[in-house]
Amino acid sequence: MNHELAELLFPNIKKTREEVEAKFPDRNLKEGAMVTRFGPSPTGFLHIGNLYGAFIDSVMAHQTGGVMYLRLEDTDSKRQVEGASDLILNSLKHFHIAYDEGYGKEGFYGPYVQSERKEIYQVFAKALVEEGKAYPCFMKEEELQEIREGQELRKEITGIYKHYAVDRDLSLEEVKEHLEKKDEYVIRIKSPGDMDKQIILHDLIKGDILLPENIIDEVILKKDGIPTYHFAHVVDDHLMKTTHVIRGDEWVSSYPKHLQLFQLLGWKSPKYAHHAALTKKEDGKVRKLSKRKDPEFSVSYYQEAGIPAEALRLYLATLTNTNFEEWYLQNKDKTIADFTFSYKKMPVGGTLFDMEKLNNICRTYFSRLKAEKLYEDVLLYNEEYDKEYAGIMKKNKERLVSFLNIERDAKRPRKDIATLKDLKEESSYMIDEFFFQNAENTYKIAEEKNYDIELLKKYSEEFSESDSYEEWYERVKRFAQDNGYASEVKMYKENPENYKGHVGDICEMIRFCLTGRTKTPDLYQILSILGKENFKKRVIFFENVRL
Ligand code: GLU
Repeated sequence: MNHELAELLFPNIKKTREEVEAKFPDRNLKEGAMVTRFGPSPTGFLHIGNLYGAFIDSVMAHQTGGVMYLRLEDTDSKRQVEGASDLILNSLKHFHIAYDEGYGKEGFYGPYVQSERKEIYQVFAKALVEEGKAYPCFMKEEELQEIREGQELRKEITGIYKHYAVDRDLSLEEVKEHLEKKDEYVIRIKSPGDMDKQIILHDLIKGDILLPENIIDEVILKKDGIPTYHFAHVVDDHLMKTTHVIRGDEWVSSYPKHLQLFQLLGWKSPKYAHHAALTKKEDGKVRKLSKRKDPEFSVSYYQEAGIPAEALRLYLATLTNTNFEEWYLQNKDKTIADFTFSYKKMPVGGTLFDMEKLNNICRTYFSRLKAEKLYEDVLLYNEEYDKEYAGIMKKNKERLVSFLNIERDAKRPRKDIATLKDLKEESSYMIDEFFFQNAENTYKIAEEKNYDIELLKKYSEEFSESDSYEEWYERVKRFAQDNGYASEVKMYKENPENYKGHVGDICEMIRFCLTGRTKTPDLYQILSILGKENFKKRVIFFENVRL
């Protein structure tokens, strides 16, 4: 009977499950090597949660000498969006998520697009029918709905199981009658589950989780012969030899179904690691990152915001393992590839995605780049997003690189650049066009302080470009003394009535006149980069602006 039923339902499927399985031999990998997969659905752009998952897939596979592959999960044709698969590929490339095989690449375990594997799923669905573990269900939408409503009312588990599964035991004749009438049907498993039993998910991140055994006759093939996510997951992850399924924890509750499917097919299930969803704090409350509310949900946001791929990866690494950040701060010359990630150190509950934290990681990341490389990265960014400024950057390359170099090798390097956008604002006073163009903007702070223009003029004559830092400072101190200011702050504090101010006040005046700001990187170096003539021009500009 089962054999006849299987032939009736799948007349065109000639291959046996053994023949298909033989095409997917075991992978020849060393002990402990993990095979992971990233299985996005092409339903739109990649979101940061997807990228987080893909990042974990890639580090776990690669640090063990394993394989990460990309599988396009396109079984839900209604939700598909044109061009989405290209967007996925581009994003993976942009964020340097290197996978070894799969969609967009070669690979022995393909096809890696689920819609191209229809026949494979049908071979296994047919086998399950033949083994008496699955059956065609002809129930109509209205019937299903009625059952669901009754179950909801009675607070029962919803779905087709036990006495609700009326098509479980249709005779061959009854099936034939349906088929003759061209009635639509799905294929369901005959769940052997027991409502009173529980199973344990040994989750690598969350630990052991007790879950109810699945009792539902789950659909494995939909009316159009396309598999459900559940069935495709089980068949693919078995055939492609996945050792570790890393996915979002919204799938935890589906695990009993998946385990049962593996058991019905006589396969060993892979290990599971369910990672927490990314969350955000807003008005004191924590909620999941949302497509509708949060621009940072889409990965394209980071590119536009000037957050380099590597910095975002560092942040993803921080979110992946709680001990990563400390390690990164302590190990100046190391990269992500030098760190060993573990499932045990992954956050169990919601993972807070904090933009401020990301910005701090970016600052550290930028502070460790060579000035020339940072200049090039900023230029590349602006060539795409701010062409005019890119042109200005090129004309002022030397000045900008020198500016970026200030305090770069210091013990505590500058961290004023948080995104590739920031250089424009942070270094605006280094660019003459910006500085002299708009006086109001240049001296933004409405300074009430009584800066002494004549003194500044005098100092601009006195300043010598060839001074070393020590010589420069000595000269400022002497200048202070000669002009009624204390050459040491301490001296001033002891007898303030004797002085107009102290050497610090002089430096503040110079700084403000030169940059329009009260806080900048090292003044001596800025003066040296801009040079004496430029300084003189700025003093005159300051004088005119103030009049
Ligand atoms: N296609 C599924 C999704 O996009 C992937 C889930 C999984 O990794 O198993 O949610």
